[in-house]
Amino acid sequence: MSSTLDFEIMRNERPASAAERERVLADPGFGQHFTDHMVTIRYSADRGWHDARLEPYGPIPMDPASQVFHYAQELFEGLKAYKQPDGSIVTFRPYMNAARMNRSAHRMAMPEIPEQLFVDAVELLVRTDKDWVPDTEGHSLYLRPFMFATTRALGVNSPADEFMFVVIASPSGLYYPRGIKPVTVWLSERYTRAAPGGTGEAKFGGNYAASFAGQAEAVENGCDQVVWLDAVERRWVEEVGSMNLMFVYGSGAQARILTPALTGTLLAGVTRDSMLKLAPDLGIPAEEGRISVDEWEQGCASGEITEVFGCGTAAIISPVGRVKGRDREWTIGDGEPGEVSMRLRQELVGIQYGTRPDPYGWVHKIV
Ligand SMILES: *Cc1c(COP(=O)(O)O)cnc(C)c1O
Repeated sequence: MSSTLDFEIMRNERPASAAERERVLADPGFGQHFTDHMVTIRYSADRGWHDARLEPYGPIPMDPASQVFHYAQELFEGLKAYKQPDGSIVTFRPYMNAARMNRSAHRMAMPEIPEQLFVDAVELLVRTDKDWVPDTEGHSLYLRPFMFATTRALGVNSPADEFMFVVIASPSGLYYPRGIKPVTVWLSERYTRAAPGGTGEAKFGGNYAASFAGQAEAVENGCDQVVWLDAVERRWVEEVGSMNLMFVYGSGAQARILTPALTGTLLAGVTRDSMLKLAPDLGIPAEEGRISVDEWEQGCASGEITEVFGCGTAAIISPVGRVKGRDREWTIGDGEPGEVSMRLRQELVGIQYGTRPDPYGWVHKIV
């Protein structure tokens, strides 16, 4: 490991027992259980990144005047560690997450973290808590790096100069424990997620805080997730929930994929990028462009659009079966998971879990 910092190692004196861990791993759910350790690294304007530590997972003492509590200066990442058939453990394209965190940091006026330090921190945590990486098919260890402003100051005109970077890990079960079930999505006309010039392309907690009312509206209307439309015309489809969207046109040898282009208000998903590279190699042309709600509805009515799915690290793909708006409603294909969606999912999952070759060099071995 070539690190830009030496980590101080403070082992958890009271790790979960093997029995407790097995109990959690038997039914991990998502984001509810955490491993024995975490990584913390501090930043200050005068010292740069320093005090890198592996320490027991636990509460972080914070000054109540820390800027993150008042002005939400925060960002996060999400990636997973996967157990391979030979028992080794890998992550998937971690340098993409590091690079994206730094793009988010730029937008949030936060310091960049050296990509290698980000990856070293992730690797150290996974290596230390490797017994928490599930063996069960489709399960994984979800990794959550995040950064926030710890500067003690309520004045907004003095930019924060102290930050903390943390990585925690959480065993994660199947996103669809009862088999893949297409979601019904709600076209929100009231709320938007991201405006031009705003923070939509940063992986920033505030985007989520601002999305919960839209998600609640979706649920009130009997839907699972909300579809975000562009904030200016409320016409162009951007994302679904916290996933990028893919539209499949045609079927069989004629199938092709369209995904909304990265206009600055969308999050550049690693899964999205991987699908754009994987699909053409499977004979499915993929392009970035734009699609309006009307085109989506008409495309489904004419049969031209055959499948739609959301994609992201947590679910890999989440088929969309039905769309509902204030005064319209339609089904995509037969409302069931489509062939192209499932094939892409299978290919990507195969690469991640080491049951398929990885011609792209996406898999990053940790232990
Ligand atoms: C994280 C995220 C995604 C998916 O990104 P992946 O890197 O594929 O996990 C999509 N949209 C939003 C808003 C996100 O926060």
